[in-house]
Amino acid sequence: METEATVSEFQQMLSARGVSRRSFMKLCGAVAAAAGLSQLAAPQVAQALEKSVIGATKGKLYPVIWIEGASCTGCTESFAQVETPDAASIVLDMISLNYSETLSAAAGWSMEEAKEQTIEAGNYILIYEGAVLEGWGGQALRVADKPGTEHLIEAAENANAVVALGSCAVNGGWMGANPNSSGALGVQAYLKKAGIKTPVVNIPGCPANPEWLVSVLVDVVMMERFPVMDGEGKPVGIFSQTIHDNCERRGHFENGEFVYQFGSEEEALGYCLYPLGCRGPQTKSNCGVVMWNNRRSWCVQSGAPCIGCCEANPNDPGQNWVEVNTPFYKRHRDLRIGDWMVQPGTIALGITGLLAAALVVHGFGMKVTGRMDGGADFEKVRSWDAKHPDKSIGQYNATDEKNDDEEEGR
Ligand code: SF4
Ligand code: SF4
Repeated sequence: METEATVSEFQQMLSARGVSRRSFMKLCGAVAAAAGLSQLAAPQVAQALEKSVIGATKGKLYPVIWIEGASCTGCTESFAQVETPDAASIVLDMISLNYSETLSAAAGWSMEEAKEQTIEAGNYILIYEGAVLEGWGGQALRVADKPGTEHLIEAAENANAVVALGSCAVNGGWMGANPNSSGALGVQAYLKKAGIKTPVVNIPGCPANPEWLVSVLVDVVMMERFPVMDGEGKPVGIFSQTIHDNCERRGHFENGEFVYQFGSEEEALGYCLYPLGCRGPQTKSNCGVVMWNNRRSWCVQSGAPCIGCCEANPNDPGQNWVEVNTPFYKRHRDLRIGDWMVQPGTIALGITGLLAAALVVHGFGMKVTGRMDGGADFEKVRSWDAKHPDKSIGQYNATDEKNDDEEEGR
């Protein structure tokens, strides 16, 4: 039973860190939203945090081992970029980060020893960032005089849960893209091959949003449960809707109002970025809801098309976000919406035709209702793409279009 004394103890801890009650409740609301709970669950999250933080001050910190595989440490950087003081720093108080190549002050053998002791004691969470490298007999990545794969197996075997953090950890990411000479793959796929049954929670993203990790830690550490996960082991509350579903530019998409060139009038008007390569329609993640940098903004709001960094499928190495989404900021000739995944240069024609037809009907409706004035229309750009296979997609040029028409006697 929570006493007035413990509540005020917690309040004191907040104010000692310069965190207002209001900003703490805002964090709890965001954690609840990221976990797919209603905003009404914020007080429940707050209560769990209060109890856990107070428990932590009495020596009950939950041990965490954070291993870097083949990574750029971007996910660690992303997690570490909390403002100081910030409410999120309170959450960090619930874990004891016993090992992190990037964040720990200690280094060398004493660090390795701390890791071994944590593994032996058990009851910890393993966060694994970056791809697993199987290449050259596991020698593609060596840490502390042994292959990275051995470190993963040792730490994963005895953990309560493994969090595969970032798209590289989910299915290889940048390292897993063609030609993949280092034999990169995701954590879940590697552990499955090694016969290790520890549950894996997959949090894609390049980098992963720190609030997604906080939300999973709140679930596992404080609420003592796993988040509800989909068939790809991703928390449903975070990764079930597309970027497009929650995009503030969606009204412009519906109105057929698109940006075809950076620096254009349409861009200044905040139109939809689809022709510039936005992968929002096929990428599942709640970036538009949780946002980035302490909920200040996010990719599409800042004017950058979504490049689909959360499209990582642990069950399918071919569904690697780098492979399916490059070149960035260029519209692909193939269209993909939701779960319709079509690899560029393969069987796109039938589906593209179907989707193009849908867009033509959509555009026709827009024209009839007078909602499609200004800018080049989508079908014009598509036909320009078809006539200029040698030119970069999305570089539609109205003058070229006119010259083509003249050459063809139209
Ligand atoms: Fe937003 Fe991209 Fe969808 Fe346009 S295509 S509405 S910019 S997510
Ligand atoms: Fe990645 Fe797209 Fe989310 Fe940006 S909006 S973080 S590119 S999934």
